Amino acid sequence: MRVHHLNCISTCPVGGKLMDGRTGSIIRRGHLTCHCLLVETGAGLVLVDTGLGLRDVEDPRSRLSRMLLMMLKPDFREEMTAIRQVQRLGFRPEDVRHIVLTHLDFDHAGGLDDFPWASVHLLTRERDSALAQRTMLDRMRYRPQQWSTRPRWLAYEPFEGDTWFGFDRVRSLDGVKDDIVMIPLVGHTHGHAGVAVRRGDDWLLLAGDAYFYHAEMDPHRPHCTPGLRFYQWLMEKDRGSRLRNQARLRQLRRHHSDVIQMCCAHDPVEFERLTGRSAEVPVAALAQRPFIPHLVGRSA
Ligand SMILES: [Zn+2]
Repeated sequence: MRVHHLNCISTCPVGGKLMDGRTGSIIRRGHLTCHCLLVETGAGLVLVDTGLGLRDVEDPRSRLSRMLLMMLKPDFREEMTAIRQVQRLGFRPEDVRHIVLTHLDFDHAGGLDDFPWASVHLLTRERDSALAQRTMLDRMRYRPQQWSTRPRWLAYEPFEGDTWFGFDRVRSLDGVKDDIVMIPLVGHTHGHAGVAVRRGDDWLLLAGDAYFYHAEMDPHRPHCTPGLRFYQWLMEKDRGSRLRNQARLRQLRRHHSDVIQMCCAHDPVEFERLTGRSAEVPVAALAQRPFIPHLVGRSA
């Protein structure tokens, strides 16, 4: 299956170098990605996470928390939204049939509204804790303004018995081939998941916000910038599970790096390594008009 990497709007957090480790100073703002995947399958396109969407670009203050807007100051450029990058690749927005979410945080769910026909797959626990809005932090991170597609949400429980490289997995996602697997990675939120995509002989795992900085996955000397360590602490819902899952992901990298490539949502270094392009530019248009088998015979 062909996979396209999309950065669906960068965030520019205060703290600069303390956050991303590569901005020149701590006075300037840093740059983090919202790394999403667009997967071409025999049954249409599957989008994994949606970043921030058109409505967030148009009117951020009605959609997002003021505190988080101030802290993260997203670089609101319409050309970076998932829908515009899907079109840039030559697909129609309607070709996106399924959206698989790592979790419902504002910077992962903002583009849902741009694909109202798509089925949305997520963990039951994530849906329920987002809907419950129990704490002030929940009300800042989970934004009902972004949820016009709620009638199309399909929620899943972890499935006991079957595993993916030793990790629990969810049973098959309705309408999606088994080559896309949802793997609970609880900690950042109560229903957080990673999403693995089989690409021929190997797998690509988008670990979402299970970790934030590439060097956290260093099997020998894991480390993180102080700013991102603080941000992960601030946003975590279950510290024990979060750290345990990070350790398990490091083991996965150590033992299976020949068949699994891994990335998280917000690290521009990983994004640029995987794509060979700056995280600040949208995906390049395909040289040829893309071919989606099931759409043959339908008007273009
Ligand atoms: Zn995030």
